[in-house]
Amino acid sequence: LTSSTPTKHHTKWSDKQSKALSDLTEEFTLSTAQLEHLTAAFIDQMQSGLAGDQKSSDLAMIPTFVSGRPDGQERGSYLALDLGGTNLRVCLITLKGNHDVESNSKAFRVSDHLQEAHISELMDFIAISIKEFISSEHISSKIVEHPTDSDTLELGFTFSFPVAQTAIDAGMLLRWTKGFNCPGAVGNDIVQLLQEAIDRNKVNVHVAALVNDTVGTLLAHSYKHPNTFIGAIFGTGTNGAYVEATRSIKTMPTPTAKEMIINIEWGNFDKDKRILPVTPFDNKLDRESINPGIHIFEKMISGMYLGEITRNILLHLIDHRLLFDGTSSQKLNTHWSFETKFMSQIESDTSATLIPIAQILEQELGIYLNTQVDREIVKAVCELVGRRAARLSAMATAAVVRRGLSVEGHFAGYGYPLKLSEGDHVIGTAAGVNKNETAAEEIHEKTDSVAEHGGNLQQIHVGIDGSVFEHYPHFEERMVEGLTELLGSRAKDIVALGISKDGSGVGAALAALIATKNADHSC
Ligand code: BGC
Ligand code: MG
Repeated sequence: LTSSTPTKHHTKWSDKQSKALSDLTEEFTLSTAQLEHLTAAFIDQMQSGLAGDQKSSDLAMIPTFVSGRPDGQERGSYLALDLGGTNLRVCLITLKGNHDVESNSKAFRVSDHLQEAHISELMDFIAISIKEFISSEHISSKIVEHPTDSDTLELGFTFSFPVAQTAIDAGMLLRWTKGFNCPGAVGNDIVQLLQEAIDRNKVNVHVAALVNDTVGTLLAHSYKHPNTFIGAIFGTGTNGAYVEATRSIKTMPTPTAKEMIINIEWGNFDKDKRILPVTPFDNKLDRESINPGIHIFEKMISGMYLGEITRNILLHLIDHRLLFDGTSSQKLNTHWSFETKFMSQIESDTSATLIPIAQILEQELGIYLNTQVDREIVKAVCELVGRRAARLSAMATAAVVRRGLSVEGHFAGYGYPLKLSEGDHVIGTAAGVNKNETAAEEIHEKTDSVAEHGGNLQQIHVGIDGSVFEHYPHFEERMVEGLTELLGSRAKDIVALGISKDGSGVGAALAALIATKNADHSC
């Protein structure tokens, strides 16, 4: 069989195939009530994380020491680094004021070897990449040839892993995620490790700030939309950051500013799988991953894992002789061989005969015997996994928005805070004030009445980056559906999801600016 001559032998799904798919549908579908329940638990975990109660929370809720948000008028040139996946990006960012940014960047591939090499080797690689970038055409050669103290380039470092920060330019790696596993890093100060490598390699650069990619994305989005409240990543991994009232952060010594950005580290939500609807396919993936027992939420949502969940389901169907006539291929039998990218391509195929899917199955996975029914099943499986991911992403986003709605002062002026909180104690997050109402209904009512009274429903901006959000078909649409279930039918009036592509570079520069400005003040 070739892809151009699809077999017409099976025009209908067998009863067994239909039954298997409806069982899977049941397992992978999240009802509004389930989402609501997860949202309430998520908000509770945010609370206990902020209170420093690590026993009852899987959310690290890390204070980032970034206070205040950019208004788009900041100016200056900074180096920025973005590390978090298979690429290291080195950038020169020029903040031009008036919400305008210019950036030059160069990507360096982080080899599989480096992702598990000793941390000093990874840091040397980064330092050498910076050196190469500086001496390339992008940067004025003067700075390199005549290094003086004042010529030292200030650098912001976006490092997309969980770091317990103790200052804007200091923090200890808590754990590796997303396939990285470099010895010598966990428990050590990432800024210090980088600065040492930079000095070792005689590069005249000062590491001024360290930020998570979610924080960088939030900052970069604020530069364009000052009403940004959340930064989120739906890419290889997933996570979110938001603006919290400092008096609610019990883990901080004495608050000096009114607000501070918190890195939630939501990938680790419900790591013990108490309430997430984890399936055997998720458990298999988790067990066989490099970091079993943690980041289970991330493993249900993000690009590194969705393909592998799908592969696990396809193998299950093959083993029950419900797919590909019970035959797998060497490729499909290989761990991680089914990339999330294939799911995007498969879900994009809306043709009647699904020939493009046949091409992926043949060329990428060596499955030459596939009928139209097979292809329909493969597509249906991708849809189940992709939709669940989008709805869980909506859940986390809605939880953070609701947290914001309940914090006094955040959205003052248009009917907020809702009566969901009492002091710092959040009450009634699952059910509204009127016990028969859901929070979604309550928010809907409240926003409606603000609108009716001529109030201004200012949108809360969410800056988002990541390949899944950007490229996965229907991801955003499915997310908005979930948000509407959780925030009421005016969800779109109050929350504006916006792509902030490669925002973490700009965000790192803004963090460097904030850090050096603060240092100036203290002199
Ligand atoms: C990391 C986060 C990061 C996210 C998105 C997760 O694996 O723990 O720190 O923000 O990936 O890159
Ligand atoms: Mg990134």
